[in-house]
Amino acid sequence: MDAKKRRAVLRKFYKSKQWISVRDYVLMRDKYLCTKCDKPAEVVHHVIHLTENNVDTWEISLNPDNLVSLCAECHFNEHRGEHGKGRQAHEHDEPYPYTFDENGQIIPKPIMHGEQI
Ligand SMILES: [Zn+2]
Ligand SMILES: [Zn+2]
Repeated sequence: MDAKKRRAVLRKFYKSKQWISVRDYVLMRDKYLCTKCDKPAEVVHHVIHLTENNVDTWEISLNPDNLVSLCAECHFNEHRGEHGKGRQAHEHDEPYPYTFDENGQIIPKPIMHGEQI
């Protein structure tokens, strides 16, 4: 599978209802704090990394045991460790791209600290 297809598969996953509810559950479980340094969490990271090959394996893609809330900095470090240099080209969820209001309407969510990942 080429890189473009791979990204599309993962992007679709990150838009799925299943992922969004598991992600929200994990953030709630971790009290919206980074599990490494207690700063506000900004991403939910797959401990066993998500790839196009395991995206359909819910034990990896949607298992809260394989998911941790991290801040941008710890998330960066998490991926930097893997290949020794820079951030791995690992497809990721966007940091809190949106949320729901009281009426269940989808609304854009402001990014904390004005930081981009
Ligand atoms: Zn952190
Ligand atoms: Zn990650």
